[in-house]
Amino acid sequence: MTINGGGSDGWELFERSRAMIADGTPVIELTQGEHDIPTDATILDAMHAAAKEGQTGYAPIAGMPALRDAVAARIALRSGVPTTRENIMIMPGGQAGLFAAHLAALDAGDTALYVDPYYATYPGTIRGVGGVPVAIPASPAHGFLPQASDIAAQAVGAKSLLINTPNNPTGVIYDQATLDDIAHVCIDHDLWLISDEVYDTQIWEGTHLSPRALPGMMDRTLVIGSMSKSHAMTGSRIGWVCAPPDMVEHLSDLATNTTYGVPGYIQQAALFGLNAGFALEQKVAAPFQRRRTLTLKALAGQNVLQAVQPHGGMYVMLDVRAIGMDGDAFANALLDAEHIAVMPGASFGAAAAGHIRIAMTTDDAAYVDALHRIVRFAQSQT
Ligand code: PMP
Repeated sequence: MTINGGGSDGWELFERSRAMIADGTPVIELTQGEHDIPTDATILDAMHAAAKEGQTGYAPIAGMPALRDAVAARIALRSGVPTTRENIMIMPGGQAGLFAAHLAALDAGDTALYVDPYYATYPGTIRGVGGVPVAIPASPAHGFLPQASDIAAQAVGAKSLLINTPNNPTGVIYDQATLDDIAHVCIDHDLWLISDEVYDTQIWEGTHLSPRALPGMMDRTLVIGSMSKSHAMTGSRIGWVCAPPDMVEHLSDLATNTTYGVPGYIQQAALFGLNAGFALEQKVAAPFQRRRTLTLKALAGQNVLQAVQPHGGMYVMLDVRAIGMDGDAFANALLDAEHIAVMPGASFGAAAAGHIRIAMTTDDAAYVDALHRIVRFAQSQT
């Protein structure tokens, strides 16, 4: 079984940038979704204290009851859906949650739908559990929102649909009408909805709606959550799946046979982070909100690069088609000319081929400087 589909996956540019750095060429990397701040010191203190206090043995496999309760309370508060610990499976990160959710929802050979543009691992995750990935295009012409008719056209015989809002790579937040349409297709075609909401604390415009809250969706939705983005805890590997209780039991059985749970000191640190409330989340999100404004300002007054309005998340997508290049050609030429690395849109699927994705993950001054250089470079290409 192959997890990567073979052929080009568009990540060559990332590798090329890393090779240039290894050879001593300074490159400004605006590629990966990694904060430029470390995990908050208070969370690290809680982690250290938990380890010193002895939480270094096996931890409860589905997660510490107190952490499951805290995640359930957070989800209930934000979505309005009654949620208890029986709905929560603690996972070593959102990626593991995506894998486990698909394994729980699919049998080998089942078709699993996902929306293109997509977070780069999606098709590999589906293949990894023995499923058959089928992309639903969400075109720039529709604001990168999937259309109900396109989903319905592929839904016959499919088992699941994977969506991501706020979206990586586009920064788009799905509106109520889009989510209502998605819910109807899922109900009509008896699909599991796997809803990746790992960017739910990074909302710049509009409101984040969890589709689990829509009528008829609670029993067919698996929500993927993570503290990677919300609490700058990417390296701690801590997240969850929120699902109907029988699915949580399957996920727990899977963990018993794979990860055997998440370290207790990491779970304790996560509990501390959640209990710290909105203030800490806002502190972690603030740099991206600031840089989003800086991005729009730096792009104002020119028309070669068109920003997809970033509603949420830590990325901004730029349409480069007015230059007469696709994203791949633009990103490669930019890397050669300016030593700035951005991701070609095609790394996230064919629908984003005319775009580049910029991660807003460098300090403000260097970030703005890079943006000005990107604009200048784009203008020089017309
Ligand atoms: N979903 C999306 C959309 C992501 O962008 C990422 C990480 N970049 C993940 C899931 C997985 O994150 P983690 O495993 O760190 O929680």
